[in-house]
Amino acid sequence: MTSRRPLVLGNWKLNCDHVQAVHLVTELALRLRGADVGGVDVGVAPPFTDLRSVSSVLEAEQVDVALVAQHASEHDEGAFTGEVAVSMLHRLGVTYVLAGHSERRRYFHMDDETVARTAAAVRRGGCVPVVCVGETADEREEGRTEEVLERQLRAALGGLDDVDAERLVVAYEPVWAIGTGQSATPEDAEAAASFLRGVAKGPLGDGADRLRVLYGGSVDGDNAGDLVAPDDVDGLLVGGASLSAQAFTAVVTGVADCYRSRARSPRR
Ligand code: PEP
Repeated sequence: MTSRRPLVLGNWKLNCDHVQAVHLVTELALRLRGADVGGVDVGVAPPFTDLRSVSSVLEAEQVDVALVAQHASEHDEGAFTGEVAVSMLHRLGVTYVLAGHSERRRYFHMDDETVARTAAAVRRGGCVPVVCVGETADEREEGRTEEVLERQLRAALGGLDDVDAERLVVAYEPVWAIGTGQSATPEDAEAAASFLRGVAKGPLGDGADRLRVLYGGSVDGDNAGDLVAPDDVDGLLVGGASLSAQAFTAVVTGVADCYRSRARSPRR
């Protein structure tokens, strides 16, 4: 029997300077402490410049929220102006690093190979990569969703020297659902998550049953519980709603309620 704890990560993107970040995470800590969210792993991904301040607040408030980075360099050190190495993030207390978010793929030309090298660097540097995959609206309309997901995930896993499910998270984020207000249905999220787990079985074998697969795309407090109800969806990657402590707490609460009501914690 294996267990997969639900995981909810908030991606703040290019929002909040370090002063605003302190306000947001302080309110979040207060709200989470007052909410019934035991059993759910939670993390926030502020901009790099906020990480130290956010980490100090989390430590002072003694609230169990993981620090997440939105991106990292594929390089460990050297003459790469403007880059941030995973070891630097790890030293700041970062646990998870997003690898290949669709906005990095789209606006910063991250291809599958770069995502694979980044995921490998994240593991080398002591953090857990959250490999983001997802099809565009056109790819979906052309019936190519599975082809795209398989290509993206296989490439990312191919870059890892040992594939240990506990040190890896996969996020299914259909590009058409990100920031559009048009979330995937729980059925679509489950179909994609189950497909991705199947693809992961190649390199991971039975370890794929321990792999956490998240869904992301227009998640809010109203749809969070429904989206994690299916078997293969183990949590959520949240953008817009994570910029409000109230809305993000509602998402985490929705996940906790779902797991409690279905008595599926821990989940197989
Ligand atoms: C994201 O950027 O990862 C995301 C899921 O954004 P949103 O929740 O705003 O759709």
